[in-house]
Amino acid sequence: MDFRKIGVVGAGTMGNGISQAFAVAGFDVVMTDVAQAQLERANTAISASLDRLVKKDKMSAGEKAQALARIRASTELAAVRDCELVLEAATENLELKLKIFRQLDELAAPQAVIASNTSSISITRLAAATKHPERVIGMHFFNPVPVMALIELIRGLQTSPETYGAVEALAKRIGKSPVQVKNSPGFVVNRLLCPMINEAVFALAEGLASAEQIDEAMKLGANHPIGPLALADLIGLDVELAVMQVLYEGFKDPKYRPAPLLAEMVEAGYLGRKTKRGFFSYA
Ligand code: NAD
Repeated sequence: MDFRKIGVVGAGTMGNGISQAFAVAGFDVVMTDVAQAQLERANTAISASLDRLVKKDKMSAGEKAQALARIRASTELAAVRDCELVLEAATENLELKLKIFRQLDELAAPQAVIASNTSSISITRLAAATKHPERVIGMHFFNPVPVMALIELIRGLQTSPETYGAVEALAKRIGKSPVQVKNSPGFVVNRLLCPMINEAVFALAEGLASAEQIDEAMKLGANHPIGPLALADLIGLDVELAVMQVLYEGFKDPKYRPAPLLAEMVEAGYLGRKTKRGFFSYA
């Protein structure tokens, strides 16, 4: 499997970071989204992120221009037709992802790899929606993508050793550190991280301490670089809620019940940094 052109479906928080990572590593990228405004926002975010690298002398202005020129944006899913790997990074919703996987199965070349950046949905289930489930894999990046080294590589039951090996090599080519994980609700990092954040929301709702105090306590007491509530704002409260629902439904264990305050914040549209308001405010 020779990867040269990468398709990214969904240009939100993750999709734009993923597009940047591939473009900087020299791959041609087709970045698609249903919303033109999201594509424009993604282009602006990528440009600003590369500007920071230029300022820190980690990249020249010429390299920035080359990386940007490798990214083509489109509102048409069909634009990923000739990509050797298509990475789905759309909204965390099972029905939506199944629909996108069925569409990609029709569109993409039979030898193309179809990957998902899902935080919690079963790769085995997404793979089963395609005619080539052995070419489906989870590539779970972390936020912010240009900074975070890890990619959890999730093997569905059907993922072939060839697909796994090729994608592992690809992950290394873009400078990331892959860790192999079996398909299971929340994989490894979110299985541990999201219940901790959820518990912080329970603590806040119970009045145990203020949001600032909870975060300060975890930074100073557990040596975390960022507090759990600020981290929830960074991840997106809708994404955090969706992961807790998948853990709750996947294991049928009440320890994973989503905090009611988390659900209510999402109902209010307070999703964290991306809406400028979550547990904290962002001007
Ligand atoms: P986001 O809400 O920022 O972006 C999702 C994007 O998908 C939006 O731009 C939306 O317009 C687009 N979209 C919706 N339907 C689409 C369709 N049919 N075709 C193309 N685009 C479509 O969400 P995000 O935080 O970037 O999350 C994307 C995925 O990455 C989710 O599966 C999430 O679980 C996963 N993820 C998120 C994080 C995180 O920290 N935010 C980390 C790792 C993985």
